[in-house]
Amino acid sequence: MTADGSNDGMAHAGCETSRNVRSWRPDPSVQDISGRLRSAGLRPTQQRLSLARLLFAQGDRHVSAEILHAQARNAHIPVSLATVYNTLNQFTEAGLLRELSVDGARAYFDTNTADHHHFIIEGGGVLDVPQDSIAITALPEPPEGMEIVRVDVVVRLRKIRRRTGARS
Ligand SMILES: [Zn+2]
Repeated sequence: MTADGSNDGMAHAGCETSRNVRSWRPDPSVQDISGRLRSAGLRPTQQRLSLARLLFAQGDRHVSAEILHAQARNAHIPVSLATVYNTLNQFTEAGLLRELSVDGARAYFDTNTADHHHFIIEGGGVLDVPQDSIAITALPEPPEGMEIVRVDVVVRLRKIRRRTGARS
């Protein structure tokens, strides 16, 4: 793993454990996005480019289709929610995103496709768990004919409720 000098707190520190994950290093360069789409086997249409810019030009992120759709509208990109969904699914199939199954109601898509774990905040929100802060010491034998692809740990969070009368 190489140090890449990024230091935005919860930043992904790279990818030590990914094996067969088609991951690329996070790169803020916008010019690169068209090439990224091509090398993932996707034709860089205007719509894909616009959404890819929103997704990938800001470092690692977790977005739902609704969030991305709202951002697209703010950026005056004319695109329907259905198209945003389709594009997110195409990017996921192409290995540019990973879909997080964390919440029955909402799918989140992660621009970091390397293996890592997540905090899920009750009521909405996803954060990366700092790397190497979870140790998995035992795994079950997979059933006959199966192999383990990866292990995703989800740590669920909620705000600490203030007790009335308690002073801190
Ligand atoms: Zn993540």
